[in-house]
Amino acid sequence: MIKRTLLAAGLVAILPVIGWAGQKPTLMARPPRGAIVLFNGQDTSKWHQNGDSDAVKWDVTDGCLVVKPGTGDIITKQEFGDYRLHVEFWLPLMANESSQGRANSGVYNQGRYEIQVLDSYNNPTYKAGGCGSIYSQKDPDKNAIIPPENWNTYDITFRAPRFDASGKETEFPRITVVHNGIKIHDNVEIKVASTATGQPGEQPATGPIELQDHGALIKFRNIWIVPLKAK
Ligand code: MG
Repeated sequence: MIKRTLLAAGLVAILPVIGWAGQKPTLMARPPRGAIVLFNGQDTSKWHQNGDSDAVKWDVTDGCLVVKPGTGDIITKQEFGDYRLHVEFWLPLMANESSQGRANSGVYNQGRYEIQVLDSYNNPTYKAGGCGSIYSQKDPDKNAIIPPENWNTYDITFRAPRFDASGKETEFPRITVVHNGIKIHDNVEIKVASTATGQPGEQPATGPIELQDHGALIKFRNIWIVPLKAK
């Protein structure tokens, strides 16, 4: 009996440490061969502020890149075509806010196509606006939402749009998103040039990764990208 009680007490002590890790096979995944590490816990030199060449103004704290509200989005210096991207993010609880006012950010593919980052746990919002949505376009196929103040993973496979010799777009970009180990978009065509708040203008063949400042103290870590050969 005492043993069983001790075992139970031990589990209770351990569970908060494990958190939701069991659901997230790529949590803290090491960059594979061929990956470009975009943020390793310290170095922000692969990024600059969106709209100018200023060094990143966001904070680096305890190995995390933390949004500094009001400074604006950050984008990678390098541009990418087809790729596999791994991002981890942590959302603070903003209990007095609701809908898009809760912890909000975003991962923009090619600076244009936002995969929404939002605390959607017990927090309804409008269509194609919740966490994991292709913002303004499509809700996730499945619910991979976890409570705030836990680490999330996004594993994104992006296929750039294709163009003919005259520059006319012949194929839409396609995206597959795995959120916390659950596939939430499966090779989905994105039929717009940007998702509402992405970079404007004609679609390019390559573009940067962009992280959104939406006024909340979102933390990011372990960001890496594997450029893929166009097929
Ligand atoms: Mg957002």
